[in-house]
Amino acid sequence: MSNLDDFLRDHPECESARDALLSWQHDLDRLRQEKTELVNSNETLTERIADLEREIALMKDVPEGFISSSGVLWLVGAGGSIEKLAYCPTCKLVMTPFPSDYPEHLVCTVCKFKAPFEYSKLDQVWSEVTK
Ligand SMILES: [Zn+2]
Repeated sequence: MSNLDDFLRDHPECESARDALLSWQHDLDRLRQEKTELVNSNETLTERIADLEREIALMKDVPEGFISSSGVLWLVGAGGSIEKLAYCPTCKLVMTPFPSDYPEHLVCTVCKFKAPFEYSKLDQVWSEVTK
């Protein structure tokens, strides 16, 4: 039994307004659902903004001879070539495939930073960087 049915049982004088009350109940249910979805969406966006702010902070701290792309650093050689090695944006050290047997990620062995792309995407990401 719905809240509305409970209410009308306790207040029979309101029975003539049942249709309007049903409509409002429907609107209220819909608005509550939308609110829940917006709260969830807001949490996701807040986390995304925090991630992007961290990325921007790291991009502003790019040392000479490196470029920042795809969340890691790439060393630019003398001729402008870019080696296929991702560098940790914090430690400026070459990142290591992990686990070593069947690498899934690139990690910094010093600060444990994990590249935001999978190890299997290294070729693809590097191709984008060198375009
Ligand atoms: Zn590091």
